[in-house]
Amino acid sequence: MSRFLVFLLILSLAFSPSSTVMAQEPQAKTKTADPEQEKFELYQRIGTLTGIPWYFLAGVDQYERNIKKKDSEALKRLISIDIPSGKWAGFLNPNPEDQWINSISFFNGMGKDGSGDQLADRQNNEDILYSFAVFLASYGYTEDDIRIGLWEYYKRDKAVEIISEYAQIYQTMGTTKLSGNAFPLPLHANYSYRSTWGDSRGWGGRRIHEGCDLFAGYGTPVRSVAYGYVEVKGWNRYGGWRVGIRDLNNVYHYYAHLGGFNKSVKIGDVVKPGDVIGWVGSSGYGNPGTSGKFPPHLHYGMYKDNGRTEWAFDPYPHLRKWEREEYRKKKKR
Ligand SMILES: [Zn+2]
Repeated sequence: MSRFLVFLLILSLAFSPSSTVMAQEPQAKTKTADPEQEKFELYQRIGTLTGIPWYFLAGVDQYERNIKKKDSEALKRLISIDIPSGKWAGFLNPNPEDQWINSISFFNGMGKDGSGDQLADRQNNEDILYSFAVFLASYGYTEDDIRIGLWEYYKRDKAVEIISEYAQIYQTMGTTKLSGNAFPLPLHANYSYRSTWGDSRGWGGRRIHEGCDLFAGYGTPVRSVAYGYVEVKGWNRYGGWRVGIRDLNNVYHYYAHLGGFNKSVKIGDVVKPGDVIGWVGSSGYGNPGTSGKFPPHLHYGMYKDNGRTEWAFDPYPHLRKWEREEYRKKKKR
């Protein structure tokens, strides 16, 4: 056999599709049964590798998950960060689907290889997270540096804000595996509520009655319904003493007409479902301290942000669900 033929044989072996299949196999094997755990470990691994704290990577990923449309392909991946092809391959790259790390870096694209297969695949979880982390690291490693990097990527103050809040929640709790809700009032308290969404007789909404009124006696504890970050605390002309908490699904929870606050809960704090944030009262509809213009109740509102706009939605079905779930849990004990 001539040397040339041997050379051809080696070439064909090196580029045969079977070699790529083999390279992908170990990745499939490392999949654990718990995708939440797998995701958490990936944040930590890429965080250690790049010097960007894992909780910021988790915050970015969670933010991206929240702003995706329900049918988005990115939601089917472990990592839902979606880096547009132009950013990934480089805007002047003639091939927007380029996966070659050398040509991508030549065209100044963000795409990097985090999985070790020498390809920068825009759909590969490790490549995506690693590429984003390396991009952030190019601005530095302090919290301020990371916020600047986030602003350069999203060009939206609210995005930076929300991602930093998520990072704070994950860092405080030490994990990304956070789920569960609580009913805002203790189940043993004497309370009553019905759907008052859009009701002109409700108190404390912004335009139409944007929320649900839960009637209870003065001093009944008011509890956070979710894991969240305390964004707002203080007086508002209509809401009275109120607290605003953002959760990990990008829902802003609004608790109004409080009689008082739990003094240990401050703006910037992280709360868990069931944490007491204040007490039922009848504050509002006047200057700071105004109270008693209506019967004591908790006005509870929910607002969702999708990365572009914010809107209110009816909390009533959620309240019913959390109440039921908590009763069920109590019975089991
Ligand atoms: Zn109300």
